[in-house]
Amino acid sequence: MFTQTRLKLTAWYLLIIMVISIFFSGIIYRMVNVELNRFANIQRFRFERRFPTPPTLDLDLIEETKRRFLLILVFINGGILIISGGLSFFLAGKTLYPIKVMIDDQNRFISDSSHELRTPITSLKTSLEVSLRDKKLSVKDAKKLLRDNLNEVNRLQILSDDLLQLSRYQDPNHQLVFQKLSLSELIKPAINQIKPLANKKQLTLIDQTKNLTLYGAKNRLADLFTILLDNAVKYSPPQKTITITSRKTDSAISVLVTDQGIGISPKDMPHIFDRFYRADSARSNSRVPGYGLGLAIAKKIVEAHHGSISVTSQLNQGSTFTVSLPLHFS
Ligand code: ADP
Repeated sequence: MFTQTRLKLTAWYLLIIMVISIFFSGIIYRMVNVELNRFANIQRFRFERRFPTPPTLDLDLIEETKRRFLLILVFINGGILIISGGLSFFLAGKTLYPIKVMIDDQNRFISDSSHELRTPITSLKTSLEVSLRDKKLSVKDAKKLLRDNLNEVNRLQILSDDLLQLSRYQDPNHQLVFQKLSLSELIKPAINQIKPLANKKQLTLIDQTKNLTLYGAKNRLADLFTILLDNAVKYSPPQKTITITSRKTDSAISVLVTDQGIGISPKDMPHIFDRFYRADSARSNSRVPGYGLGLAIAKKIVEAHHGSISVTSQLNQGSTFTVSLPLHFS
């Protein structure tokens, strides 16, 4: 498909170049013709005035000059055709490459998403079919089944919301509305949202952020800190502490979310920001919900703010996620 489109674009570039080249070659040929005829006429006129018996003009030479000139033009156009053919092919490739990367990425996104959606849908379908075939299904069993299915549907809803959010961030035309914000304005709602989950695990949340001013998209940054705090809660054993701190340098504001959780192995470290990536420990632990989209969304939000996100971690000791947002927006 890429090669076919590239060839088509090459053909269009070539067509435009050749139409222009042939058009101007035609004009040049006609002008040279006119000039040669004018030269012949003037020469004939001068001979007639100067000599009583004027010598005859060698018109064949003039015709031959015209033919040779035409041949030269044909050769030049042939050269232009070959050179511009190669250049057009190269330029068409350069023009289409970013589109190819985007389409490949979108296709991968669609196939990854369908794969993730298929597993819970298949398990829902199977459990419903098995229960329907069970003639001795009691009301109690049916209620349990409905409850399980509802949990599964809720998880599917979270997945579809995350997919929608991620696809919105992948859209290059997606514009964020930036405004002046105070850091506490972002951290407080994120903490409030996470608190019930943290309380369930008896985790202590310590907010040591300073009330710094930054410039960004309010809801997006609130989402970003919620994702990081949610992960810190999800991947911490009970009764541990999660700390949020902030730092300001000359060029950036950094927010650090530190937990005393399970940590990330060096093997997983390079992949955790990839879509749908879950470390084996998270995948095998069915009590830790998630689809491996949170950090991919977090990364997109940070990139939209021209910032960076990094992590340091030690297995079974804890992790620190650092978000740096440049100050030149503030
Ligand atoms: P999810 O949490 O839904 O699996 P994320 O994209 O948020 O997806 O995280 C990707 C993976 O990175 C997780 O599956 C987990 O293995 C790892 N991870 C993220 N945050 C932490 C953390 N605070 N502590 C340990 N591991 C983490």
